[in-house]
Amino acid sequence: MTHLTLQAVTKRFNTAYAVDHVDLSVPDGKLVCFLGPSGCGKTTLLRMIAGLETPSSGSVTFAGRDITHLPANQRDFGMVFQSLALFPHMSVAENIAYPLRLRKTGKAAQGHRVAELLDLIQLPHMANRPVTQLSGGQRQRVAIARAIASSPKLLLLDEPLSALDAKLREAMQVEIRLLQQRLGITTIMVTHDQREAMTMADEIVVMEKGRIAQVGRPLDIYRDPVSEFVADFIGLGNILPVTHDGRGGVSLPGGQQIVVVNPSYVPESTGDIRLLIRPEDVCVKPASTTSDPNHLAGTVTFIRDVGATLEATIECAGFSLTAATTPRETPGLALGMPVLAELPAHACKLIAARLVH
Ligand code: ATP
Repeated sequence: MTHLTLQAVTKRFNTAYAVDHVDLSVPDGKLVCFLGPSGCGKTTLLRMIAGLETPSSGSVTFAGRDITHLPANQRDFGMVFQSLALFPHMSVAENIAYPLRLRKTGKAAQGHRVAELLDLIQLPHMANRPVTQLSGGQRQRVAIARAIASSPKLLLLDEPLSALDAKLREAMQVEIRLLQQRLGITTIMVTHDQREAMTMADEIVVMEKGRIAQVGRPLDIYRDPVSEFVADFIGLGNILPVTHDGRGGVSLPGGQQIVVVNPSYVPESTGDIRLLIRPEDVCVKPASTTSDPNHLAGTVTFIRDVGATLEATIECAGFSLTAATTPRETPGLALGMPVLAELPAHACKLIAARLVH
């Protein structure tokens, strides 16, 4: 069942389009991430779903009802913002109980629900502590407990983890995801962090300049991006300029032939194509002379060895490649070393070049 539907939702600020004709269906019980660079319209889109911003045109439907012009306080959605906006003069329990008080829930039911939520966020012993005396991660959990206190049908999160340090942020990503799955609450989260989106989302909506560039499951988008913009935004990628060679293959600017999985690919919007190969698909071999397609001679110019994984930059004729490997797979790899990089044909894919607006 589709819970939330956006139809041609558009928001103009004066003459600029912050969100431009967005169509989207958010399935029931899923976690969907709006992902994209700063200024692409993620927050504006979320605010229109929340009712904090009115669309210039288009409609928002929730559970079969048109809510485009319904005030935010009548939507019954839970929200957590970047700032968290906890009430500093209240205790943990008072903060969580706040939406219940607004709804005039009885005292006993309030107490029961708050206790339940404190258990859920694993802070049962902190009910009476002022929120100002909590760590960043604890505050985060309280903000989420408050947002879900009145059992909203939709949870909206706008960069809720951006104030946390890297380690805590990763822990909270898992925590929120597990909580969301346990409660089965439909959730939309805004982030500009692709790793965060990959970790948490059932579906990612990649946005570019107010429009949806691609929607799909994280790994599907990673493996099958529709354009250079998406490929570049989701994960590391080697994106190289190539041209059709007229013989069913493609060639790099230096003339090296590359066999690809989709040789007859022609992009819809521009004639330019790019070759995409992910770093983990590049095989680094000892240098040797070969004229086989998909083998490129190069020199190792940078190595990032972090123990479990190793990332090498290989300078080839006129471009560089990144290869992700492990110290075990490529022992003895060293700076300045000549190598042969194999780009297996099954991992080489043609995609559309970034659109120039
Ligand atoms: P970030 O990741 O930086 O928060 P975002 O993807 O969430 O960015 P939005 O905040 O939705 O982007 O902004 C989209 C565009 O709309 C930007 O160009 C922004 O300057 C513009 N914009 C947003 N709110 C307003 C406003 N109230 N008045 C005028 N322009 C606005």
